[in-house]
Amino acid sequence: MDIHERKTNVNRMARATPSSVIKIAFGRAANRCAFPDCPPITLDNGVPLLEIAHISSPTPGGVRYSPSLPFADINSPENIIVLCPTHHMAVDRNPEAFPVNELVRLREAHFERVQNALSSEQKRSTSSRLSHLLEVWERERANDSEEYWQQLFTEHPEVFSIALGGRAYTLNSKCYVGGKSFTNTGGNVLDFLADHRGNVALLEIKAPSTRLLAPQKYRGNVYAPSRELAGSTVQVLEYRHSLISNLPALAYGAPGFQATEPLGVVIIGDLEKEGLSEGERRSFELYRSSLSNIKIMTYDELFDGIAMLVEVLNG
Ligand SMILES: [Zn+2]
Repeated sequence: MDIHERKTNVNRMARATPSSVIKIAFGRAANRCAFPDCPPITLDNGVPLLEIAHISSPTPGGVRYSPSLPFADINSPENIIVLCPTHHMAVDRNPEAFPVNELVRLREAHFERVQNALSSEQKRSTSSRLSHLLEVWERERANDSEEYWQQLFTEHPEVFSIALGGRAYTLNSKCYVGGKSFTNTGGNVLDFLADHRGNVALLEIKAPSTRLLAPQKYRGNVYAPSRELAGSTVQVLEYRHSLISNLPALAYGAPGFQATEPLGVVIIGDLEKEGLSEGERRSFELYRSSLSNIKIMTYDELFDGIAMLVEVLNG
């Protein structure tokens, strides 16, 4: 094809930028001109007043002519920058001031601003969700309804990221983990079953007001766990046993379901409120650190972890 024909083709292609290319480019640019501080302008129908500008032209004599740009790549993302009509005209009328590398730099700086805005928005929303949880904790600390706390954790599964040391979890409350007899009675129904690093964690939720230690000292300087703490620990062990022994049946039809070494978690009590003596605290710590596969976490520890996270997020 001769130069004239080629020019006409290029112009037609440039004009007829495919709508998919436009959508992707506008999306990556967050519907803003690549020039920093260029105010967004939208038409009456809400469509942003923006244009696709071509960084290089494959045609001799075209703006920022690049002999190495293949004819077919005129609309490739690398050759496109999103600009408002004013800046589009400005860069095309003055290519010496706006050479290829300058436009590429503008575009990349723009993308970085978009990414930063998104990640700081995400941080803000996570931080405000967690701050809300701290307010709830302050207000409801004395609430002794287990159902209340179960509901709160169902609505805020991110709390378990803290209890279980990272990652997000999907939760199912009141999960059946097997254990029914032939008469279809006595099945184990768990408070929560959480995805934990591709595995599952078994959770037992008590109230913050649940006592951690028995009211009477056992003997000497030895204190026994409360009936509720010992009971819920055994309860989780029972769930765990039931889950492992019923695994083939439970995992049937649930691909990706794994339960090798599932972790049990008991959320119970309020160390600060309970105000343990030194000896009591030692007995409690000895008790919980001796348990394998079971993590005992108190409510105040859980919410202290959330408070720390909020501090980190707010930098
Ligand atoms: Zn602009």
